[in-house]
Formats: sequence, structure tokens, C-alpha cells
Amino acid sequence: SYILAVETSCDETSVSVVKNGREVLSNLIFSQIETHKAFGGVVPEVASRKHVESITLMLQEAVEQSGISPDKLSAVAVTQGPGLVGALLVGIMAAKSLAFALDKPLIGTHHIAGHIYANRLVQEISYPCIALVVSGGHTELVLMESEGKFRLIGRTRDDAVGEAYDKVARALGFPYPGGPYVDRLAHEAENSADLPRSWLEPDSFDFSFSGLKSAVLNVLNQTKMRGETPDIPAIARGFQESVIEVLVEKAIRAMRMTGASELLLCGGVAANRGLREALAERCDREGITLRIPPFAYCTDNAAMIGAAAFLKLQHGEFAPQTMKAEPGLSLEEWSVGS
Ligand code: ATP
Ligand code: MG
Ligand code: FE
Repeated sequence: SYILAVETSCDETSVSVVKNGREVLSNLIFSQIETHKAFGGVVPEVASRKHVESITLMLQEAVEQSGISPDKLSAVAVTQGPGLVGALLVGIMAAKSLAFALDKPLIGTHHIAGHIYANRLVQEISYPCIALVVSGGHTELVLMESEGKFRLIGRTRDDAVGEAYDKVARALGFPYPGGPYVDRLAHEAENSADLPRSWLEPDSFDFSFSGLKSAVLNVLNQTKMRGETPDIPAIARGFQESVIEVLVEKAIRAMRMTGASELLLCGGVAANRGLREALAERCDREGITLRIPPFAYCTDNAAMIGAAAFLKLQHGEFAPQTMKAEPGLSLEEWSVGS
């Protein structure tokens, strides 16, 4: 099968053609980061307009690069949610028009299912498995008993990891998106600031990062009030250590509790060097198989949407032309065969 996939949930416009849910024939990504940088974050209205500007040409280009003639496509897939409603709508309108014109089925796809199934673009997944999803808008532990079945066993109660990284980075004086700057600084730092860990209830798989973020802001303010210069690298390292310790510990605990065979790390923060290293080291010690997609498939891209949509194609679960954008689409409800 050949799926043409479209992703416009946030600030990346992306179109891809994926064969059999695994093989990427084309994957064009246009990042709007340079545009949003000036505002210190993603401006929804601006994001929508940028998607409109590039989507048509990208559709054409992605099909051309794939070498597949449009009538050979099996379906047109598009991110239905979660994401920014205006941004999602641009992709959905484009996908609907194309599906209608080519007389192909439409597949509404879950963005986080995409982040998880990005793993399948490089390797088959064994079930049951646990996915640790760490991105700009999500921090979740997902149990998959079998293919395409998602059960949320933990989630953040406030900020997502990526969001916390970006907010802390901003306070430390770095541009948007600041995650990679904090990551780099944490590695160079000689000292580490002592910052709290948020474990929540002893058996909880939920996360909370807003307290840690506040603690960083307090350290900065107090240092400045004393007329001293804050040790920025030490704060970055302390912050990163706190985040990583909690993520790793809860992911390992979820693996033990469920007896899952693999741990998948996915989402944009999976690019974090400290997290990759700490998780790899710990999984090695515990005898756990860890899977992390290559960098290009960690951040937003349409190939991962094609990989997730393949599950729906196999089950013949298509969306009507009346499909709406769902900014709060539930991952569990998106499970195949439900
Ligand atoms: P969602 O997938 O939840 O809708 P999103 O698509 O905006 O959110 P992604 O594109 O998956 O999020 O990830 C972007 C986030 O990843 C940003 O917050 C960015 O700072 C963070 N990030 C990227 N690289 C790193 C890194 N090396 N260390 C920490 N964070 C990082
Ligand atoms: Mg993005
Ligand atoms: Fe994403």
C-alpha cells in the first residue's frame, strides 16, 4: 500500500509518501521555527498562514519525489489532532480535497500515535510495549498490549517536558525552542544546581514539571536579588538531571509493572542527549530493549503519520469527508478496532 500523509498540527508543514507503513518514499518537512523565533514561541494564527503558503507545493513535491503516480495511492492520511485547531484545519482541508479529487479514502490520524509509530519506520515493534512520549505538548506513558491499542497509564498534570525545557531556556536567556540549548549547556556544566524532583504519589505514573520550573525561576531571582551572577550552566544541568531522573525511573517502573518487552522513546524531546544516554544505560543494566527513532523521525514529520495511518488502513477504518479537526483528540479512543 501507499499512503500519502499530511502533518500540520503545530509549526512544521510536512508531507510524505509511505509504503506499507514502514518504507519512507518521500518526507518533506518545512519548519517554521525561524518565523516563530521572533515571537519567542509558536503563534497559532501565523502558523496557520504559513501552512497555507506551503502545503500545495509540498503535496506536489512529495508525490513527485516518491515516484508513485497519484492513482496508485491507497489512501490520504492527515493529522486530525491533537494540535492547534487552525493549523490542523489547513492539513485537513488539503487532505480532504486531494482524497476527493483522487477518489481515495481519507484517514484521520492521531499525532501522538504518529510519534509512537515513528519507531516502525526503522524496526518492527514487539508487544506488549511501553512508549514514553516526550514532546512539546505531551509527556505520557502509553501501554500497548498489541498493535494499535493504546492505554494511557501516566501523563503530565501540568507542563509537558518540552514545554518546561522551553520555558526554563527562555528564563536562562535562550531563544525558542530552547530545549537543545539547555541540553548542550547541561553537558558542558561543571556544577549542578540542587533542584527538586517531582515524584507525586508513590505508585503514580503521572508527571509534574511546573514545580521544577518555578524552582528554577526562584533560584534565578534569588541570585539576582543578592546581586550575584547566576551559574547558568549549573542550573541547566540541575534542571536536566531532575527531569531525566524522574522520566527514567517512572518508565522503568512501568516496564516492570506491565512486563512489557520493549521501551519506545518518542517525541521531540527524544532528541535530548542526556535522556537518551541515561535511558540507554539504565535499560542496558535492566536487560530492557530500548528503541529510539533517528532524530529526523523524533520531531514532527508526516512519515510518522503515514506509519500510524497504516494501522487504520489495515482495519478499513476510514474517515468521512465531514471529518473535523479535534484539538483534544484522545489517543485511547483512536485505538484500532475500537
Ligand atoms: P506535540 O507532539 O506534543 O504536539 P510538538 O509537536 O510541538 O508537540 P515536538 O516537535 O515533538 O513537539 O518536540 C518539540 C519540543 O522538543 C520542543 O519543546 C523542543 O524544545 C524539544 N526539544 C528538541 N530537542 C531537544 C533536546 N535536545 N533537549 C530537550 N528538548 C528538546
Ligand atoms: Mg514543532
Ligand atoms: Fe509532535
